[in-house]
Amino acid sequence: MRIVSLFFLFLFFSIVISAQNKTENIVIVTLDGMRWQEVFKGADSFILKNKNYTHDYENTSGLFWSDDLNERRKKLFPFLWNVVAKQGQLYGNRTFNNNLNNANPYQFSYPGYNELLTGYPDTLVNSNEKINNPNENVLEFINQQKDYQNKVAVFATWDVFPFILNKNRSHLFINADVDSLHFNTPSLQLLNDMQFLTAKPIGVRPDVFTYFAAREYWKVYQPKVLYIAFDETDDMAHGGDYDQYLKSAHAQDRMIEDLWNLIQSSASYKNKTTLIITCDHGRGDVDKNNWTDHGSEIKESGQIWMAVLGPDTPAFGEMKIEQQLYQKQIASTIASLLGFSFNTNHPVGNSIASVFNSDTDKTKVASNNRITSEK
Ligand SMILES: [Zn+2]
Repeated sequence: MRIVSLFFLFLFFSIVISAQNKTENIVIVTLDGMRWQEVFKGADSFILKNKNYTHDYENTSGLFWSDDLNERRKKLFPFLWNVVAKQGQLYGNRTFNNNLNNANPYQFSYPGYNELLTGYPDTLVNSNEKINNPNENVLEFINQQKDYQNKVAVFATWDVFPFILNKNRSHLFINADVDSLHFNTPSLQLLNDMQFLTAKPIGVRPDVFTYFAAREYWKVYQPKVLYIAFDETDDMAHGGDYDQYLKSAHAQDRMIEDLWNLIQSSASYKNKTTLIITCDHGRGDVDKNNWTDHGSEIKESGQIWMAVLGPDTPAFGEMKIEQQLYQKQIASTIASLLGFSFNTNHPVGNSIASVFNSDTDKTKVASNNRITSEK
């Protein structure tokens, strides 16, 4: 008897949960090593004025500087601040103790992407080498669900993604660096030629090719889950090139806006698609010269951020409540948005309820939902 009533209770809540979700499609975009400091505060005046890092101060400050914080961050990330901040949610502004962190201790790329996509900050995943990831990720989990088989696609600039997502095991469609685009469409064939002939300032194809490959693929093949992994921001930062770090960040924001406009103009995606934008790790800031670097020795570099926009996500805007979230929670949040529970053979962080639950801290968020004025 007790088991029977528990079953009906379970059934009831399952129906309630799935009834809440309008999300049928997910788009994830990552900006490698993009600092929360620029996301929430715009270009940094110290780094901008330092000739070691900013080579064309006049041009770069002309593009991205304003004395007003709100204007400054809008110049750098117009889509995040004109659209997501009004219609979605932005996590990770530590000015309000709204904290999002790596749970893994390493604070570099592969361990970060592993934590993001598997929900498991596995301490054995501790190098950027091309080693197949033993942990199941949420994309391959979704790819096994009804209606999602062969409807998950990944486009990455960095050539380690086929290993992070264990292409051999997961059978996900993954196109990374100059992996050939074997598609019989003129635009994808053109992109294929271009990616082989382009200069590669960061050693792998420029992010714009990754974006266009994803975009043209999306138009023709209509994946239900699309992951785009950009890379340039991290490389430019390691190279100490603040001009190009900002320009790459800005270009990525514009590409995300372009994709969102396409999604919202498609009858099969409009108001059925959730967009999640985040990063793998942060970078240093306490010592401003550490902006170029990250890792376990640079302790601020586990500080990350996330933006969410979609039909199930209450428009809380910039989150200004004190909270501590972790990157390991994002994988199950993605599954929950689609009405799935991400259970696998390793631990997974809990999903972030405020992403899809309008009751979460509503009053606290609403009373704090003013434009910031600090510089
Ligand atoms: Zn990285």
